[in-house]
Amino acid sequence: MHDRQSWENRLNNQQFCSWSVINGERYFAKDGGKLPVINPATCSVLAEVTACQEADIDEAVHSARRTFDSGIWSEQPLQVRKAALLRLSQLILEHKEELALLESASMGKPVMDALNGDIPGAAHVIAWYAESIDKIYGEVAPTPPGSLATITREPIGVVAAIVPWNFPLDIAAWKVGPALAAGNSVILKPSENSPFTAIRLAELALEAGLPPGVLNVVTGTGIEAGAALGKHHDIDVVTFTGSTSVGKAFMAYSGESNLKQVWLECGGKSANIIFANCRNLDEAAEKAAFGICFNQGEVCSANSRLLVERSVYPAFIEALLSKLHAWQPMHPLDSQARMGAMVSSAHKEKVLGFIATALEQGGELLTGGTACEIEVSGNYISPTVIKISDENAALWREEVFGPVLAVKVFDEEPEAIQSANNHIYALAASVWTDDLNQAHRVSRKLNAGTVSVNTVDALDVTVPFGGNRQSGFGRDLSLHAFDKFTRLKTTWLALR
Ligand code: NAD
Repeated sequence: MHDRQSWENRLNNQQFCSWSVINGERYFAKDGGKLPVINPATCSVLAEVTACQEADIDEAVHSARRTFDSGIWSEQPLQVRKAALLRLSQLILEHKEELALLESASMGKPVMDALNGDIPGAAHVIAWYAESIDKIYGEVAPTPPGSLATITREPIGVVAAIVPWNFPLDIAAWKVGPALAAGNSVILKPSENSPFTAIRLAELALEAGLPPGVLNVVTGTGIEAGAALGKHHDIDVVTFTGSTSVGKAFMAYSGESNLKQVWLECGGKSANIIFANCRNLDEAAEKAAFGICFNQGEVCSANSRLLVERSVYPAFIEALLSKLHAWQPMHPLDSQARMGAMVSSAHKEKVLGFIATALEQGGELLTGGTACEIEVSGNYISPTVIKISDENAALWREEVFGPVLAVKVFDEEPEAIQSANNHIYALAASVWTDDLNQAHRVSRKLNAGTVSVNTVDALDVTVPFGGNRQSGFGRDLSLHAFDKFTRLKTTWLALR
């Protein structure tokens, strides 16, 4: 049963983990510090979770390093690593209700989205990487006669994965899956807003047979636990997903410490271009509504800049506003909810601030613009569309991370491309057209890690995901993710 009452019952009986997991054991910060995790839909504290500091991060790194050097995971036959990771994937599915509830209660997304999307998605990604590891071959280089040079991939060592709160388990799986499959030891740092599924992931990994110390989870603030990871001298790789400003900090931490590799998946402000050649405007409107409202708009690749060709603008906006009715926020445990609560009241205020500034800067409010109260919480924002004409407006330039869509009209194809590309972010873009030539022409010219044609935000474990410019570099997902978690070894044999 997945109705509201059964989720409420589950929530009342749920034990929330308040510890980190280091070397296979529950770990509490040496100084006893804790951080409250608040349910944005009830405004109540779910748990006080231990807050790791530099000395605690040291423990985690020592554990990961010791484990890596011991070879207990890094040098296991691939079949052993594969079997353990497949078991982990299975355990995630067996705990899907619990994990879905933990996601929803901590960051406000509809629990049914977590149940049907995030949790099976994370399990699938772990299984996909488990299945991949014995299908990757090395190379033999065309070296001169009298020599043989092999190029092989080896695990790098200790990987720190720092992840955000918007898809806590999914994004953790995107990093932990390939990093572990490749044989590394990992320290995962979840966001302070949403630590529970990461902690449970570490516990399930132990149950699945991963040796203690292979997957450690450290909880705590970014400025303390996160920075200590970034500056640590014995971490080899940082894989980060989060804001661009914190991504830049990780580059600096690396320069200040041991030149660890840093891979960044940062912010976005993705353009969605509707050409008059698009025959199915209704579908485009449906997807545009999804593209800004799914996960409360708290999506790095949210289609938050809409460009509509003038001749279809009135019809398209009418269809869009009508589709948005279905996205009015609801309590996240309501099985009908498509949009839940914003992650925190501070974030809700930030989003409202963006709306206010947009209107002050001449934006025209087409719908929404307000927060709403549901039961005891005011952490909800109705779908908002604001028409702007000036590309210097803050709403066009800055990532809002909420259900707030900036709309602009264009007249010619080159103008749409120029508007889409004239941005510091280049994570994703969408193009709607039934002209095949236009689809190819425009896709090639758009600066984005992923261009979706006649859909939005296309994503699958089989294709790389990541951005250009200040959206970051490096790619999650697909076999290309192994590039981040393996290094190339040349072995040259002089043949006698
Ligand atoms: P954030 O940058 O505030 O935090 C991300 C992680 O970094 C958290 O674990 C946090 O504790 C840690 N952190 C924060 N400050 C730190 C510091 N000074 N030093 C070290 N670590 C620190 O991001 P958020 O608010 O959790 O998530 C929202 C952001 O994430 C948005 O900008 C969004 O675009 C981005 N995001 C990007 C992608 C992508 O794939 N490109 C996916 C999801 C989210």
